[in-house]
Formats: sequence, structure tokens, C-alpha cells
Amino acid sequence: MIRGACLCGGVRYEARGVAFMSICHCSMCRKSTGASFSVFANVKPENFEYVAGRSLVERYESSPGNFRGFCRECGSSVPVVVEGRPGVMIPAGTIEGDPRVRPAFHIMVGSKASWVEIGDALPQFDAFVPGFETAHLDGQGDAD
Ligand SMILES: [Zn+2]
Ligand SMILES: [Zn+2]
Repeated sequence: MIRGACLCGGVRYEARGVAFMSICHCSMCRKSTGASFSVFANVKPENFEYVAGRSLVERYESSPGNFRGFCRECGSSVPVVVEGRPGVMIPAGTIEGDPRVRPAFHIMVGSKASWVEIGDALPQFDAFVPGFETAHLDGQGDAD
């Protein structure tokens, strides 16, 4: 079981059965999170639920049909459930405690920030990983 919350604690969720965790280096993730790269844990929609603050979750359509969630109160990135999407992307920074899963790969490395040095041995992909397109919130590619 994974538990998480936004910065203000208003949005709380629980999830289980993380399919994979991925590190994304696209420019949209950088802007959206304000961080050098993003880390998301992907779970099936049926394995995710809000336990508080669902009404605080706003969403931004960062590319057609793809939505990024944020807390209306504190602005934190939060998971958003979008009908028809195969997975819910959980911003890993909102997870509390050890989720007992680790990132599997880097994606969109072709768009990596110039100051980022990847120092681990995980597989790196310039764009998507075949079969794991849902590892990226914006399935249309990068905005560079
Ligand atoms: Zn919040
Ligand atoms: Zn991204």
C-alpha cells in the first residue's frame, strides 16, 4: 500500500500495485513540477483512490487529452484520475514513506536539462519506451 499527500495535506490518496516507476526528462515535466526531472509511479485506475480532498484536485490539459493534476490550495502536483486513461500517474514526491518500488528507466533523455548528470545504471531512452508510452503524461511527445 502506498499513501501520499500534497504539501498542504488536503489531498490524500492510497494506491497499490505500482506497475512501474519512471523518471521523465521532458521539458513539460520540468515546467510543471519546477524540478530538474519528474518521477512518477504508474498504477491502474482501479488500484487508486483519494481518501481526502478530491474536490481540491484541479487539472491542466498540458497536451490534448493529457492532464496534470494539482492541489488548488497548495499547488503541489497530485495524481489525477482521467477517464479512459490506462493508468494513474502518481508524482513520486508526494508519496509518504518507502513505496518499496524503484525507478525502472529514464525516458525523454533527449530533452534532459543541460545541468542534469544521470548517475545511475538504469536504461535510458531518448523518447518513450516501447510499450510504456503511459510512462509519460503527455503521450504526444515533448514540447521542445
Ligand atoms: Zn495541497
Ligand atoms: Zn515528462
